[in-house]
Amino acid sequence: MKIGIMGGTFDPIHIGHLLLGQFAYEEFGLGEIWFLPNGNPPHKRRKDECALQLRVEMIRRAIRDVPYFKLCLHEADESVHSYTYKTMGELNALYPGNDFYFILGADSLFSIETWKCFREIFPTCTILAAMRDDKDITDMQGQIQYLEQAYGARVCILQAPLLEISSTTLRQRASRRQSIRYMVPDAVAEYIRKNHLYQKREADDGRFGE
Ligand code: ATP
Repeated sequence: MKIGIMGGTFDPIHIGHLLLGQFAYEEFGLGEIWFLPNGNPPHKRRKDECALQLRVEMIRRAIRDVPYFKLCLHEADESVHSYTYKTMGELNALYPGNDFYFILGADSLFSIETWKCFREIFPTCTILAAMRDDKDITDMQGQIQYLEQAYGARVCILQAPLLEISSTTLRQRASRRQSIRYMVPDAVAEYIRKNHLYQKREADDGRFGE
């Protein structure tokens, strides 16, 4: 089977992530998309980070109606740093006979050389890279050609709607008690509201998430 791996911190999961998964599924004829939350992201530690268990719960709610979207808990250990090269090597060993496609946004494609042992990622998967933010198609093609020539990487452009949505924006909006409706699935907005995530634990006036 062709398996798409959508790795991230998902703090929180949003429609940008879900659309990448959906478009990768359709465009590349994938059998399943596995959402892989990072337990302890080495390059993304923040004081206000949501606990892994809460991030996982939001993913569960976001994907529960989609049979080909699955939750992969391979990196779900907050006590150790997880690294993509290691995870992808292990997934290949655990699930032989499958082809893995690692889905990411342009920001990750441009920073991949800073990832630990990044060269070891390339033999384990084909990378599907979606445009994001200020990177245009020419930038992307240049970076892809570079990664292919320098490291033998296999990288394809993933055509997905360009959405200026990030978990950072959502955390900011939630902390200011602005609505996050339409940017996350309703069930995720509800979970964030009920659990007072990303906001000070003051009285909930019910306005948030409307
Ligand atoms: P943060 O704002 O906290 O950095 P994020 O929105 O970038 O978070 P992550 O969980 O870090 O979300 O992202 C996982 C992957 O999804 C990354 O490869 C990232 O590039 C990609 N991604 C996230 N949002 C988008 C988007 N709107 N368009 C394209 N790719 C995206």
